[in-house]
Amino acid sequence: MIEVFTRGLVLDKEIDDKDGLFTIFTETLGKVRGRATSSRKITSKLAAHLEPGCFSAIRLVQKTSGNGFRVIDALIEKKMLLSETPEILFLADKMTAPGQPDQRMFAYLKKLAAAGEIPSGWKREILTIAGFDPAGASCDLCGSKNFAYFSSRDIMFLCERCLKRNPDCREGLIRL
Ligand SMILES: [Zn+2]
Repeated sequence: MIEVFTRGLVLDKEIDDKDGLFTIFTETLGKVRGRATSSRKITSKLAAHLEPGCFSAIRLVQKTSGNGFRVIDALIEKKMLLSETPEILFLADKMTAPGQPDQRMFAYLKKLAAAGEIPSGWKREILTIAGFDPAGASCDLCGSKNFAYFSSRDIMFLCERCLKRNPDCREGLIRL
C-alpha cells in the first residue's frame, strides 16, 4: 500500500450509490481518479474539501489492484470562485493526462484558484502549457489562420466555417 500526500485541484465529482469518485489534478501524480472511502461518515466529512474547484491538500492511497486511488483525507486550502470555474475545470480535465505530473500546469491552475479575477487569455495559456500553442496555429481542416475553436475531443484547431461543415466536432469544443 503506497500512501501519497499531495496537493490537487478537484476537477470533477461523480456520485454512485455508495461513495464519491473524484477526478483530481495533483502536484505529484498528475491527474488521478480517486474514490472516497465507502464509510458514509468519512465521505460526508470530506465532501466540502472535495467539491469541484477545491484546491486541497490530499492524502491518497494507491489501490493494490488496478490503478485507482482511495482518498483518505482532504483539507481545503482555496476554492476557485471565478464565474469561469466550470469551464476552467472542464478544460483542465480535457488537457491533462492520468499519471502525468505537470508542474507548469499545476502552478497555473493554482494561480487561477487564488485569482480574484480571471486573467485574459487563460484558455490559450492552458492549451500552450499542454503543448498546443495557438500562436502560429491554423485550422486543422482548411489551414485558415482565422480559427476560433479548439476541439478537446479531436485535439485540433477549427475555424467557424469548418465547424459549420462538421457539426459533430461540437463535442468538447472550446471557444478561444
Ligand atoms: Zn477551417
